[in-house]
Amino acid sequence: MMLETEEHALATAETLCRSRGAKLTRMRRRLFEILCESRRPLGAYELLARLEPALGHPVQPPTVYRALAFLVAQRLIARIESRNAYIACAHPDRAHHCVFFVCDRCGESREVENPPLQELVARDAHATGFRLLRAVVELQGICAPCLASAAHSDS
Ligand SMILES: [Zn+2]
Ligand SMILES: [Zn+2]
Repeated sequence: MMLETEEHALATAETLCRSRGAKLTRMRRRLFEILCESRRPLGAYELLARLEPALGHPVQPPTVYRALAFLVAQRLIARIESRNAYIACAHPDRAHHCVFFVCDRCGESREVENPPLQELVARDAHATGFRLLRAVVELQGICAPCLASAAHSDS
């Protein structure tokens, strides 16, 4: 089921793609929807398993990888390198660094905005003459609900 925020994310994605002259095909759109519905990063094969029933026909892995590359290039989703998986960006309409807290226990990831961190990185990039195209920061640890349930089971 789509939540209001997911519908909003989809509407934002459509507007962004239209304004950039990029085409959000049915496959790309469905892939983005699946990622918006998930609270944890999903790997390409997990996505494939959800995509096929949603589209009603078989999909080849290279097709999924191409669609994922498109969504990454449009900054609608981010790749979580440590998990070899993908997650929807929380605010694709703003230029920002995606900063993710990724839980080792449940695998859920939460994106936060961190403008001071962004400024520091921009300063370093500028000083070294580096042109920054994308930034994804992954922070590994244990999320609050997992910490709480661990505390319960310990007592
Ligand atoms: Zn983001
Ligand atoms: Zn957790």
